[in-house]
Amino acid sequence: MVAAARALASRQDDALFHDPYAEPLVRAVGMDFFTRLLDGEVAGADIEGAGADLMVHLIAVRTRFFDDFFVESGVRQAVILASGLDSRSYRLPWANGTVVYEIDQPQVIGFKTAEMAALGAAPTAELRTVGVDLREDWPAALRAAGFDPVQPTAWSAEGLLVYLPPAAQDKLFDDITALSAPGSRLATEYHPDGAATIGARSKAISEQWGADGANLDISDLFYTGERHHVVDYLAERGWQVSARTRPEVYAGYGRSFPDTELLAPMRDSLAIVATRQ
Ligand code: SAM
Repeated sequence: MVAAARALASRQDDALFHDPYAEPLVRAVGMDFFTRLLDGEVAGADIEGAGADLMVHLIAVRTRFFDDFFVESGVRQAVILASGLDSRSYRLPWANGTVVYEIDQPQVIGFKTAEMAALGAAPTAELRTVGVDLREDWPAALRAAGFDPVQPTAWSAEGLLVYLPPAAQDKLFDDITALSAPGSRLATEYHPDGAATIGARSKAISEQWGADGANLDISDLFYTGERHHVVDYLAERGWQVSARTRPEVYAGYGRSFPDTELLAPMRDSLAIVATRQ
């Protein structure tokens, strides 16, 4: 879904980035709905702004936010948590000598690695992939792949937290903190309105997509339950944290976040950048 949005976002007149790998990866996955979305066979405009057009704009802005984070971080060791079909390791202008670790479930890592090779894509940094479940001992797997905790690291957790149970989210940040030398940086997002709203919204999106022929319920993927506020959680663990709301991040890229009632809960979502003291 995210790769499909990136493929469409790359075609926008005022595109915030260009991801040439997103479209071939989506076609390789071969889910009919997303292929038809790329072929313009699914309506983009929709009821109250909750469908494909919104998703493309959200992912466009989110992608550029994380792109900028890595490019501006100035560190030579990066970890992309839950890398999915994100192609940053193949398209960002990483500084010479940068090592990028990508962590995701083994099947996801295996699929993307094979497809990128088939496309003839070459990483723009030294890429080391780590196939492991983030609810398990991923720090051990990361170290086994060569990760050096003495060096500062740039970490991203993009489109991930809602897929982890609340306790796993805490453990993720505890583990990141333990592995982060002073000067390390972390970018992530937080949705203060909680999983309840996200669940309801994703249900509405799934229903609309169902009407368009998709057979998937993305609300099944989310974990509900109270979560710690990421800003407070990180600040209490020695990170200096800055956060911007979604309209602020949109404005930074010359875009405005739609002012509709259905989307009101999403307005408070935060884009977070933290630096380890
Ligand atoms: N960050 C990527 C991006 O923006 O393109 C992918 C986002 S995708 C919505 C969520 C990713 O989280 C998927 O690739 C999925 O495999 C991964 N994920 C979810 N739960 C996970 C877990 N427990 N361990 C490892 N990866 C997980």
